[in-house]
Amino acid sequence: MNPEETMRLLVALRSRGVGDTRVLTAMERVDRARFVTPTFAARAFEDVPLPIARGQTISQPSVVGLMTQALEVGPRDIVLEVGTGTGYQSAILSHLARRVYTIERHRPLARMARENHEALGLTNIVQIVGDGSYGVPEQAPFDRILVTAATEDTPGPLLAQLRIGGRMVLPVGESDQVQTLIKVVRTAEGYDYEELGAVRFVPLIGGVEHD
Ligand code: SAM
Repeated sequence: MNPEETMRLLVALRSRGVGDTRVLTAMERVDRARFVTPTFAARAFEDVPLPIARGQTISQPSVVGLMTQALEVGPRDIVLEVGTGTGYQSAILSHLARRVYTIERHRPLARMARENHEALGLTNIVQIVGDGSYGVPEQAPFDRILVTAATEDTPGPLLAQLRIGGRMVLPVGESDQVQTLIKVVRTAEGYDYEELGAVRFVPLIGGVEHD
């Protein structure tokens, strides 16, 4: 990675509230240029979301940073990410967690993400093609769950697959509008919800697309 561009991105991340050193170090280790389409390679280090294949987006780095920070991932954690997209977010999580399960409904996106992860030697990421609204029950419970597509309500299966003491970060609200990023912590008695701010994500859609 170009040191000047990396430095500029890190300054942008800090100025937008990403101050967690572990998160910043993980983000410094993942070259975003590898994950964007060649047309947008020159803009890979700008703090903006960019279009990717299948009408989807790679999220804005500061939003990736703020969500990762809010998730408070520990080195022993098993994490589920819903919405692999390019695999950029899961690559960052892989540097912070013990294992990352990531699920994507578009098979070609999942394939590209896997290729990127393999090229980077990230061996603790398990890529799954499927409808992430249902989570991955056979691997539950998860210590952390991150959803990178917007849903009107927190999906019940994801709440059920969060371990007690675990936390989930997700955008909630109508898909074509500004949504609210929320953090859910599962306690022995139920779930605590906290609003973290406004975000804009593509919608969480049911079913699987094979091409
Ligand atoms: N985390 C991604 C990255 O680092 O590039 C960006 C994710 S993009 C904003 C949202 C992704 O969620 C899209 O790739 C979309 O296909 C996927 N998605 C939407 N609904 C889904 C579902 N029900 N299950 C799994 N993936 C879904």
